[in-house]
Amino acid sequence: MNLSIVIPLLNEEESLQELHDWIVSVMRSNSFSYEILFVDDGSTDDSWQIICRLSRENSNVKGIRFLRNFGKSQALHAGFKAAEGEVIITMDADLQDNPEEIPELYRLITEEGYDLVSGWKKKRYDSFLSKNMPSKLFNWAARKTSGVKLHDFNCGLKAFDQKVVKNIEVSGEMHRYIPVLAKNAGFSNIGEKVVLHQARKYGKTKFGMERFINGFLDLITIWFVSKFGKRPMHLFGALGVLMFIIGFGFAGYLGIDKLFINPTGRLITDRPQFFLSLTAMIIGTQLFLAGFLGEILIRSRKNEARYTVSEETGHAQKEEQYSS
Ligand code: UDP
Ligand code: MG
Repeated sequence: MNLSIVIPLLNEEESLQELHDWIVSVMRSNSFSYEILFVDDGSTDDSWQIICRLSRENSNVKGIRFLRNFGKSQALHAGFKAAEGEVIITMDADLQDNPEEIPELYRLITEEGYDLVSGWKKKRYDSFLSKNMPSKLFNWAARKTSGVKLHDFNCGLKAFDQKVVKNIEVSGEMHRYIPVLAKNAGFSNIGEKVVLHQARKYGKTKFGMERFINGFLDLITIWFVSKFGKRPMHLFGALGVLMFIIGFGFAGYLGIDKLFINPTGRLITDRPQFFLSLTAMIIGTQLFLAGFLGEILIRSRKNEARYTVSEETGHAQKEEQYSS
């Protein structure tokens, strides 16, 4: 199968039929073998009924329905898990992303050898203040912290080589940072393509202004996890030891001063160095403990893959559906 088109959606009943017809016409005219995977993220309108009907009429349409709304990241996760195509496309269900871009995205992955190609809504049809400007700032920060040089992290239209989606875990609300997750997993060949963007035709956006606050927090998490997630002791342990040494230094100074230099001076507990010493040693111990607990946590999660396999040979090969 050439293509899996993964579409996360929440209450998009007005758009689904139109989106489906449009994708199908693009698939037909390029004679792609394909599947359309609608992931219904807990819609409360008729979206699921429409998906069921589409899937009865067109055997290439598959649907996954969540019991409740779990968020776009989880929807993508489920879609990635089920996808069987050699190239996986993600797109929004609201007709803002244009299916005509798919053939070129497919070509970039299969012929030019990109692991991931992200859409870039160079010309956006969203309101300037609530979206375009914060989004510029957001993308700039994401570029700086992650080192992934994309203009538009949050574009719903993206194309992936199958091995990328089978090797990354889109957890929490990390759908905005899939390229960063891919890069952390070792897929460095990340490209960008300018895509057409339309204004939302039906319904309204599912993410409000809080997206930017959450987005920045997620960015800090991802930066932090990618840097120290596998070695918390290197950060917390080092800081802890440093703090402790500072505290210990002050305590030593106070002790020597009291015993040998100025025994009749102020009480130790009246001096600021005493409090500095106390606080620094307590914080130092806490930081050290945090690092230590982190290390223990990592070691207890043995079965979770912390690496990305690039190739396999022999017996393992049969089990890996994505290596060809
Ligand atoms: N979406 C989803 N789960 C959610 C929120 C949104 O699956 O909890 C889907 C939504 O239906 C759409 C896509 O994610 O297909 C992008 O959402 P939206 O268009 O609201 O975001 P925007 O274009 O404003 O960034
Ligand atoms: Mg949208």
